[in-house]
Amino acid sequence: MYQQVLSQQQQYFSSGVTKSLHWRKQQLKQLQLLLTRHETELLQALKQDLAKPVFEAMLSEINYLHTDIKHCLKQLTRWARPRRVSTGLRTFPSMAFVQPEPYGSVLIISAWNYPLQLALAPLVAVLSAGNCAVLKPSELAPATSAIMARLLPLYLDKEAVVVIEGGVPETTELLKLPFDHIMYTGNGQVGKIVLRAAAEHLTPVTLELGGKSPVYVDSSADLKLTAQRITWGKWLNAGQTCIAPDYILAHKDIAQALAEEIKAQLLQMYGDDPKLSPDYGRIINQRHLQRVQSYLDGIDLYCGGQVDAEQLYFSPTLVLDPPLDSRLMTEEIFGPVLPILSITGFDAAVRFVQKRDKPLSAYLFSNQSSQQQQWIEQISSGSQCINDVLMFMAVSELPFGGVGPSGMGQYSGKAGFEQFSHLKSVLKRPLWPELPVRFAPYADWKRKVLCWLS
Ligand code: NAD
Repeated sequence: MYQQVLSQQQQYFSSGVTKSLHWRKQQLKQLQLLLTRHETELLQALKQDLAKPVFEAMLSEINYLHTDIKHCLKQLTRWARPRRVSTGLRTFPSMAFVQPEPYGSVLIISAWNYPLQLALAPLVAVLSAGNCAVLKPSELAPATSAIMARLLPLYLDKEAVVVIEGGVPETTELLKLPFDHIMYTGNGQVGKIVLRAAAEHLTPVTLELGGKSPVYVDSSADLKLTAQRITWGKWLNAGQTCIAPDYILAHKDIAQALAEEIKAQLLQMYGDDPKLSPDYGRIINQRHLQRVQSYLDGIDLYCGGQVDAEQLYFSPTLVLDPPLDSRLMTEEIFGPVLPILSITGFDAAVRFVQKRDKPLSAYLFSNQSSQQQQWIEQISSGSQCINDVLMFMAVSELPFGGVGPSGMGQYSGKAGFEQFSHLKSVLKRPLWPELPVRFAPYADWKRKVLCWLS
């Protein structure tokens, strides 16, 4: 059955309809319309799946998508143009250019933590580039999955965009098919499954994975502001953000004070009992709640640790100096627990991060410009913020993606357009006679001309 969906889509793609700029822009405008008209229902679905506070859902899902679409609509004509490159004497007379062209049919497999954004932002990039798409939303956010399956066919070209709901069996079947590109967001274990399946058809793959994103806080940083920014970025969506601070390395002189500041910020943002705060989300399901809870076995807590499993509530939790071989420090936390490790200084922090997997994101809070420069130069990570967390996501033209175990490929803005376009090289020559330098017989004078030309 899925084979038929793909064959029909590939046939439709061959008709060339999706390549026209008019069609692409129309699809993006239809997505805008969907987001505007159904905002309340979408917010409701996000509430149902993750108890997402309206403000967070607007900020990180709906408004994020609006900004992304607006940016694509504004820039698309420019991005899609052939890009002239200079030619040399060797091809004289000629012109050369790079022509972006869509791949065909793209499979998008998305994750549950930002279930709308992680499904539709790739779709925006895929459609901008003129592709068709099969979208497989995460089954762990069933309300958002269902609303996308219902609404997308009402707004988008049904021949070009198909939503297939389901979990592992459905995705496994889809992965057997010869898509023209696969875009996967989720954990690295499944990332390997996707990559293996893609290898069968030599399908290009974009993997948006996760990992442990570190923060170093230097003694030169303003602790209150630092704590405020970290607290927001860590406990947004109850810590279930791929680029959330996973752990803090704090200069030993300020580690204790930073923990106190973060605790004060938690009180300020979520009150005495975060369970009662309308601004604090919930864990996606029992399995993930128990997973995060199990990381705390045998660990001393600095604050938090309250769990109400029935309500999927897990309070903001701070841990000071957990053992480095504990699961808290060896696995991605992806939940509302934040370890703070006291460290001797900047150089030790850089070494600590360098010894581990390349993270999706790496954050530095420091007032020293030399440290800022070294952090950028010495830490390899998908993205970085200096003196903030997460906020690079607010810049449409910054590509988003991991490196090494945190992923491959990038999207957002022009990077997204290019990720789902093949950049085809074209050389165009007139049918004029030329000096017969390259043709046999290879006389001596031809070799001299060749040397002169190179
Ligand atoms: P998930 O459980 O929703 O899985 C992601 C997708 O993979 C789903 O659509 C699911 O159906 C599919 N899937 C699951 N198991 C599969 C299997 N065995 N075979 C084929 N398909 C399968 O999400 P998750 O993996 O729990 O997501 C959390 C992880 O994703 C974290 O590591 C997080 O850091 C990362 N993440 C990364 C980004 C990013 O943009 N880089 C964004 C969000 C989450």
